[in-house]
Amino acid sequence: FFSSVALAPDDPILGLTDAWLADPRSPKVNLGVGVYYDADGRQVLPESVMRAEATLTARRRARSYIPIDGLPDYDSATQRLVFGEDCAAAAEGRVVTAQTLGGTGALRVGADFLKATLPFAKVAISQPSWPNHQVLFRAAGFEIGNYPYYHADSHGVDFDAMLAALLAMDAGTVVLLHACCHNPTGADLSTAQWREVAGTVRDRGLLPFVDMAYQGFDRGIAEDAQGIAILLEAGVENLLVANSCSKSFSLYGERVGALSLVCASADEARRVRSQVKQTIRANYSNPPTHGAALVATILGDPDLRAQWEEEVGQMRGRIKAMRNGLVARLAALGHPEFAFINRQAGMFTYSGLSPAQVQRLRDEFAIYAVSSGRICVSALNEANLDYVADAIARVAG
Ligand code: PMP
Repeated sequence: FFSSVALAPDDPILGLTDAWLADPRSPKVNLGVGVYYDADGRQVLPESVMRAEATLTARRRARSYIPIDGLPDYDSATQRLVFGEDCAAAAEGRVVTAQTLGGTGALRVGADFLKATLPFAKVAISQPSWPNHQVLFRAAGFEIGNYPYYHADSHGVDFDAMLAALLAMDAGTVVLLHACCHNPTGADLSTAQWREVAGTVRDRGLLPFVDMAYQGFDRGIAEDAQGIAILLEAGVENLLVANSCSKSFSLYGERVGALSLVCASADEARRVRSQVKQTIRANYSNPPTHGAALVATILGDPDLRAQWEEEVGQMRGRIKAMRNGLVARLAALGHPEFAFINRQAGMFTYSGLSPAQVQRLRDEFAIYAVSSGRICVSALNEANLDYVADAIARVAG
């Protein structure tokens, strides 16, 4: 039965980590990862998560099924995290939030819901984007287009080209937008640019689907969600948000995220929720308990929440310090042109290094990065910054 099955290609980024692990050289650095590492190069176990875990353990909960659309406490706390405490649409009962398996699960449930609801819509994704965007919207049956996003010379957003593309899209096109910390480029829209995008989306009748995988990693919890608030303020009636707790709570393997859909009325929201639940039911029946219970515990307790915000702030601060450190070292080595790294946001920077230069980093210095030149800034620390900066300066010529 399976004799004609072809071998699928390995994931290029995970393959990089395998090659790095197998590399016997020392020092060696893996800048290809998509996970936050602390100053000692270790994954983080936030104190707030540990304390919430202790609370849950003491409660000795039986692991019963939870509702198809998730733990109610998690859903409402997440909705406030994503839309803020004073969101009119939420107060009017127009926002549906359903717990999902990470941000990926939110995107996929959203994509399946959209395919069932708007079967002929096109989907537009930034060029470049997180590769899984393309993969999962295609798997949901969509025709995918791209809109220009990154400007290689300025290392920022090619905003004129992006806006022109939005203006040329068919009404009803689903536009995938990154809320903050754009993966892979680190180039984000400014507040003024968000306002222009919001007005254009509203006037052209486009449907925004905002992916927020790094809330809190650029400027702050509310600040990083500003694009969502701006879309709503502009009068955009319908929008979707996929958010992830993988990075901000360091709960990668627990698979915690949520899909939120803003509807035109409370009645529309009731109908939309019923269809989202159908989509989930047909996929995995209902979501897992543990990660969402942790997040609900943290967000529902003022003390734990304050500690969590402080811990997110530390991650954010360290990322910025590493950007600064890399830029300063490269400038001292005669490469002031890398100053743009300080203007980019979040875990990643598009370094501008060519595939050949990335290959040299690997061959000559055992430094692994994605061939696009994407570098994970959080993989930098005081112990490897000098080595990495020196190597980049050498391959940059
Ligand atoms: N969107 C983007 C832009 C991401 O970078 C990621 C994670 N790499 C996700 C979504 C998915 O997050 P999760 O691990 O929560 O599924």
